[in-house]
Amino acid sequence: MLLILLIPVAAGICVYQFHPVFLKTTVVDQEFKEEFQPEKNIFCVVGAKASQVKVEGSVDTSKEGNYYVEYQFRKQKKKVEVRVKDTKAPELTVKSYTTDLSEELKPELFVEEVKDASEVTLRFEKEQKFTQSGTYDINIVAEDAAGNTTVKTAQAVLKKDETAPTIEGAEDITVLQGKTVDFQAGITVEDDLDPNPVLEVENSQVDLNSPGTYTAVYTARDRSGNETKLERKIVVEKNEELDQKIVYLTFDDGPSENTGEILDILKKYNAKATFFVTGNNQEHDDMMKRAHDEGHSIGLHTYSHDYAEVYASEEAYFKDLQKISDLVEKVTGEKSHIIRFPGGSSNTVSADYTKGLMTVLTKKVQEKGYQYFDWNCDSTDASGNNVPVQQLVQNATSCTSQHINILMHDTDAKDTTVEALPKIIEHYRAEGYVFKGITVDSYSAHHGVNN
Ligand SMILES: [Zn+2]
Repeated sequence: MLLILLIPVAAGICVYQFHPVFLKTTVVDQEFKEEFQPEKNIFCVVGAKASQVKVEGSVDTSKEGNYYVEYQFRKQKKKVEVRVKDTKAPELTVKSYTTDLSEELKPELFVEEVKDASEVTLRFEKEQKFTQSGTYDINIVAEDAAGNTTVKTAQAVLKKDETAPTIEGAEDITVLQGKTVDFQAGITVEDDLDPNPVLEVENSQVDLNSPGTYTAVYTARDRSGNETKLERKIVVEKNEELDQKIVYLTFDDGPSENTGEILDILKKYNAKATFFVTGNNQEHDDMMKRAHDEGHSIGLHTYSHDYAEVYASEEAYFKDLQKISDLVEKVTGEKSHIIRFPGGSSNTVSADYTKGLMTVLTKKVQEKGYQYFDWNCDSTDASGNNVPVQQLVQNATSCTSQHINILMHDTDAKDTTVEALPKIIEHYRAEGYVFKGITVDSYSAHHGVNN
């Protein structure tokens, strides 16, 4: 642009002059928000180039109004008025829109694109109500802040919606007594014309606490009133554990040499337990295998059990979990879906590495099909090595709830835990408890999350 401007000025020769600077006009119309180019108003300069003319004063093209600038050359001045005004109407591209007769039509639905230097409002040229199927021409008006308008005609294709929505994903489900069901999970509802059909679930007849076969009724409705109803069968299976007094003996941080002794005791008493293992003592993985083969549960405690490592981030935790999961599967031939977090889900040590991590992990592990287990009875064998047997027995036998999850450890240093175990089993057996290994459906003894 600059080149085109300069050539006639540099080449043109003015023959007559009273004032050396000749301007095209003293009143310049300047389009709103477009660049102000004062040199474009110079027709020619006698004996000099246009670029030698100085222009003083400023023009704010982002605000409509009148501004003044001065063209200065060899002590001569010429004043020019610059009128900034929005005169360009919006650029509007419309499109046709297909819908049912029940949708409230809005001009935005017919607009592909609208561009303007100022804010644009859209409206219909006239408000119309359509009650019949058909294709209609509708005029869309785009108006900018200065009142410049563009009108374009778009097509509204209106159909009477006679097709009801579809419901998918409502297959029959079987659930263990006492568990919860998200009745909306996995359900998709679609309609040919209504993008947001409504789904209602009537499940007041379903009693998840009592075994039986129930029906939940799903109703999907589009805005035109078309309805689909379907029945979903919910089978609630009896959860034997709900009626039993159960002790879950749990041993963390193994396997180790002590694991073998613990397995001997459990065998002698015909009691089942759970081992939350790590990958730190793989020379004793034969004990993990033996525990599994003898009917005990193997849970995932983490591979490294290193707080700084496993709680470094969500990704770090799941990377470690995958490692211990793979190890357990390799050793036992079975995948484990039960977890115990190092330090329990209530730990605060994780906050030293990642704020809010346990809040995320406790949710995510369940979404991934795992369940995590804390404890509601602490033997306190983690408070030091060789905690006196008497003290361990006293702590581990002080619990009275229907489902008791006892925290113990089967590392090499925990000899007194091994010694205390027979007394703990004898105590609860006398109280009428049975000893079970943990499954994903077992009582989970969740702590409150503190990070
Ligand atoms: Zn541990």
